[in-house]
Amino acid sequence: MNYELVIGLEVHIQPNTKSKMFCSCSADIFAAKPNSHTCPTCLGLPGALPVPNKMAIEQLIKLGFAFGCNINLNSKFDRKHYYYPDLPKGYQISQYDKPFCVGGKVVLEGGKEIRITRIHMEEDTGKLSHVENKTLVDYNRSGMPLIELVTEPDFKSLQDLDIFTRELRLILRHLNISDADMEKGQLRLEANVSVRKIGEVNLPNYKVELKNINSFKFMLKAIEFEFKRQSEILESGKTPAQETRGWNENKNETFLQRTKETADDYRYFPEPDIPPILLKQSYVDSLAKCVDDLPIIKRERLKNELGLSEHEINVFINDLGLLKHFYELIKLSEIVNAKDIAKKLVNSKESQKLSAQEFFDLLKNEKSSVITNIDELKEIIKTVITENQKAYEDFKNGNENSIQFLVGQVMKKTKGKADAGVVINIIKGLNGNSLN
Ligand SMILES: [Zn+2]
Repeated sequence: MNYELVIGLEVHIQPNTKSKMFCSCSADIFAAKPNSHTCPTCLGLPGALPVPNKMAIEQLIKLGFAFGCNINLNSKFDRKHYYYPDLPKGYQISQYDKPFCVGGKVVLEGGKEIRITRIHMEEDTGKLSHVENKTLVDYNRSGMPLIELVTEPDFKSLQDLDIFTRELRLILRHLNISDADMEKGQLRLEANVSVRKIGEVNLPNYKVELKNINSFKFMLKAIEFEFKRQSEILESGKTPAQETRGWNENKNETFLQRTKETADDYRYFPEPDIPPILLKQSYVDSLAKCVDDLPIIKRERLKNELGLSEHEINVFINDLGLLKHFYELIKLSEIVNAKDIAKKLVNSKESQKLSAQEFFDLLKNEKSSVITNIDELKEIIKTVITENQKAYEDFKNGNENSIQFLVGQVMKKTKGKADAGVVINIIKGLNGNSLN
């Protein structure tokens, strides 16, 4: 088909905080007894007053730094009105025209840029569960802080989306903004999807919002389905309707939830119970100084300063605990080099559990038990070749896999005490030479 996807994302992130967004209820709500983390404020009782959570706002600003956003020194909260049983106030405190962060971008692997429109703060709703013919409501999540990040429609493929989501999750974890566990709802995606003819530069005049899809896998499926559905409508000369759609897992198709609301429907107005938030530049600067390095910077350091392999870097970047442990070991080690430490940690899960002392002892023992006498090693290799003439002939005839087999045999004979790299060099050196 001659069509392409145009996708913008709205991402909801539950930041790491001690308490909820506007009250002092504990934010540690995962797996808590329903309605055990509530108070008059997050239950929306009349007369209860909201007080903004400083830590949540700081988490949002940190994310703004990560994307190079402009931080609004003059910001405010607004009321967004809609009624739903899980929203007891009948409105959500959000931000309309003065979000904390605007602009910015993220550069994906391969150089593709995704522009950030805005990052604003809002509060989460409660949670409804439908049991048989009853609906139960749990207000533990009501009033939890929620960072909303909105991107420009810069995604053209599911692959872009995948790379962006992975990178975002890493940023959130490395900067300790959020644990970003999708299973726990700490990172939720909504996609605005439209389709246009390839070569068309203008944005389509409609978009379909894919909402309330609780897994990344289903979101990708829903987008694929929409690509086909919308392309067919366009092909028939019509324009798809602007609407919100959900995903039906059983039928493997999207379905209409509602036609799209406009900002007017929400009757936004400034939240009268919270004064405008005025940030000092010096305060923002001091926050910037405390922000940890982005994963992309850490990757470069591991590569350029410590010479680690691509695989080792990926393991460390995706396992913050292990990365921290690796840095601690480097600091403690005087003679062992970082590459050896990384190699051991990445290749042996058991070694990750050892104390620093035990770990270094292990490395030392292994080093001393490796056969360092080249003549001794050559003798063993010659024996292996004599016993495996066919494999050696294959190798000489250009079959590279055969050398791995020979190395394996040498390892077997030496009980793993040979250095594979050295063995390969010796075998290659023997190639064409007389064994005597
Ligand atoms: Zn509360």
